Amino acid sequence: MMRQYFAIKAKYPGTLLFFRLGDFYEMFFEDAHIASRELDLTLTARHKDTAQPVPMCGVPYHAAAGYIARLVERGYRVAICEQTEEATGKTKLVERAVVRVVTPGTSLEETLLTGAENRFLAALSSNAEATAVALLDVTTGEFSVTELRGEAHLEAALNLLERFDPREVLAPQTLAPLLSAAFPQPPSPDAPAEGKPSGPPRFTAALTLTEQLSFAPDAGEALLREHFGVRSLAGFGLEGRPLAIGAAAAVLRYLRETQMSDARHVTGVTWFETTTTLELDLLTLKNLEVITGASGSKRDALLGVLDDTITNMGARLLRQWLLRPSLELPIIEARLDAVDELHRKPIERDGFRQLLRDIQDIERLVGRLSLNLATPRDVAALRTSCAHLPALRERLLACTSSLLLTLGESLDPCADLHQRMAETLSDAPPVKLDEGGVIRPGFSAELDELRHLRHDASGAMAAIEQRERERTGIGSLKVRFNQVFGYYIEVTKANLKYVPADYERKQTIANGERYTTPELKQLEARLRDAEVRLLALETQLFQELRAFLVAHAPRLQTAARIVAVLDVLAALAEVAARRRYVRPELHAGDELVIEDGRHPVVEANVERFVPNDVRMNNSTDRLLIITGPNMGGKSVFLRQTGLIVLMAHAGAFVPARRASIPLVDRIFTRIGASDNVARGRSTFMVEMTETACILNTATPRSLVLLDEVGRGTSTFDGLSLAWAVCEYLHDDPHHAAKTLFATHYHELVELAQVLPGVCNVQLAVSEQNGDIVFLHRVIPGSASKSYGIEVGRLAGLPASVIARAREILANLEANELDVLGKPKLARHLPARRGRAQRAQPTLFEAVNESVIEELRALDLNSLTPDLAL
Ligand code: ADP
Repeated sequence: MMRQYFAIKAKYPGTLLFFRLGDFYEMFFEDAHIASRELDLTLTARHKDTAQPVPMCGVPYHAAAGYIARLVERGYRVAICEQTEEATGKTKLVERAVVRVVTPGTSLEETLLTGAENRFLAALSSNAEATAVALLDVTTGEFSVTELRGEAHLEAALNLLERFDPREVLAPQTLAPLLSAAFPQPPSPDAPAEGKPSGPPRFTAALTLTEQLSFAPDAGEALLREHFGVRSLAGFGLEGRPLAIGAAAAVLRYLRETQMSDARHVTGVTWFETTTTLELDLLTLKNLEVITGASGSKRDALLGVLDDTITNMGARLLRQWLLRPSLELPIIEARLDAVDELHRKPIERDGFRQLLRDIQDIERLVGRLSLNLATPRDVAALRTSCAHLPALRERLLACTSSLLLTLGESLDPCADLHQRMAETLSDAPPVKLDEGGVIRPGFSAELDELRHLRHDASGAMAAIEQRERERTGIGSLKVRFNQVFGYYIEVTKANLKYVPADYERKQTIANGERYTTPELKQLEARLRDAEVRLLALETQLFQELRAFLVAHAPRLQTAARIVAVLDVLAALAEVAARRRYVRPELHAGDELVIEDGRHPVVEANVERFVPNDVRMNNSTDRLLIITGPNMGGKSVFLRQTGLIVLMAHAGAFVPARRASIPLVDRIFTRIGASDNVARGRSTFMVEMTETACILNTATPRSLVLLDEVGRGTSTFDGLSLAWAVCEYLHDDPHHAAKTLFATHYHELVELAQVLPGVCNVQLAVSEQNGDIVFLHRVIPGSASKSYGIEVGRLAGLPASVIARAREILANLEANELDVLGKPKLARHLPARRGRAQRAQPTLFEAVNESVIEELRALDLNSLTPDLAL
């Protein structure tokens, strides 16, 4: 057996081998050490007493899923090796083979799946011009691919990946040097990793490097064509996109190889354009708390407020809509029309939502079916779900908005599938096939007959018991069955003397003996036989049903997606009604108007939220300078503006009295001290890097939210940078964007005097007897004071510190000098765009400019090789 073990183990390097031994999965050697450590299992040994004991540990097969899930969660890959034939005699070694390799991106272990999230397996492939990204949700079969071009295409691809938060990323070996640092070190069972790199990596996903060959476009195209059964990939929009084809094929091949299944639920691949979606980088998603809030859960995030979906399919789709809001007016308008209708008709909405409650996760059920992981109970869930599709269709067809109507028209009621499940499957099938009772009585005559036989046999057993009691006069005689000894007659010690001669002794127990008779043996054989045939037949019929359903997987998947869309639309309408949201007007112009806007999350958590207006355009109000005391509400105002714009693009109603939103290509944020410090860069460096990224990529169609840029350095540096950043975002022909800039540098309000598009607003406070009250209201003008000392007092700084700070402040204000006695900065603001005096030594002097001059002056055509050297 160990020889067999080694042979199999050698074929799956880098995995933990779960080796099936009877009712257990066993791990040996290094695998056993790792598993015992990671899973808190007791480490034992085979051949304990020999010179070379074999370390081992194991888990019972019925509880394996949880253990596998834990290992995979920690980045291990687990190869599951089953016995592929029935154990017959004791001497013969049974055949074993790996039936599935579970990796982070392909795991379907029940306990691991949180239904409201997708689990993406991604692939990345790159050349000089472009990077392709393929994303496959193994659990649902959702499969899409895109290519990113332009200067920093690999970085753009990584940004995209970050948004989708895949579990596992496949990439060719050649990208290893560029990618390795961004991913966690794999915990390889063959070579345990020593010495962790500093700081957490950018992704939590496992990076799986494969041969460049598995990304080859030619073989890839052949594979995709074969899998989807098409002559050309043009129908998927993939023609002439070799990089995307290679990436998509790599994902599919990996899935088929690890699952050893044909993955029939992957029924198509969608090309998606990144230019038709609103760009949101991970930073912005974090800063605006779109998917997860400060606590790391969705509860205090936008998603938590909006996610009133009923099905997991809807929950996943809503997340997608928020991660990838649309830039196409017709799509957004269609969604808004539908939400509007459901919003206006609460009774219809309730009717839909009531129906949705009975619909299970069809997408994942189909995924499990096609990967042969579905239990009879899963199919029963599918049956119940399908039962409600016709009613859903009826209701949709009674709607008026075009999206709902289209959904209704394209919703296949799948009546034939439902009928087939209803007539095949029993009413309440068990979870496990071998528990029996899966197939409905009346479906198969042969099955009914076998069941009858089995029933008969238990009747026969009772009859034998009765007869033998009478024959022997032993009133306590029992006919019983157990797994090890089969059928037997049990007689207690006191009655042994009455046992007739034709009884054969089988086993001695504490208080009696067990016997058998030829008649009993015969009965047993008949029963065993019926049992085996019964199970085989039930299995066969169930598999036929499964195959039938898998053949119709695309229909079920389409239905599932329609259910998901409806669920999201109804949820958005429900939330809009409950929270008094309004329909935003989207347009291609440049006026941004929000009247009485609210922050969707904060408003849910404070007693009285103060709504505020925003009015911006690209000419007179392009850059808003927001001043006001700490705790005044600057950040909330900034974020709510971003969130309202984002929600509108997703097709949701927004928390405002009225909102007119221009299409925006990207929302940028630079807010607060970032937790990026963990990645080992100083806070200020991070702040500047993020700002640089914004200045280099924003366009006049972007929305930029800046909170306290420049704060991380000395006042002079910070203010100068902030000032220059504002000028750039106001003036630059390519990168000027609608900008909200919250700042403590009151000097910046002077920008409004020199730049036509700058506008000052402040957060109002009222002062009463030296106490300050934050009104959270945005009003025109600029704050005259910071109230920093007041906030310090509220926060409980010692009274002596507060008093001393007041003293220093009074001093500074009176003298207009800073603490060290230098003249205050405000009087010395640089003239606009003047060549600034060198105020500080330059850290990074341009490397010896004379060398560059000299290089430029060279005439390459007349240069001899010698001279060139
Ligand atoms: P700042 O950025 O000016 O320091 P924040 O925007 O963080 O202040 O707001 C501080 C707190 O004030 C928030 O946590 C919130 O509880 C409250 N707040 C902010 N804006 C409002 C508002 N419009 N209505 C009610 N409370 C608000």
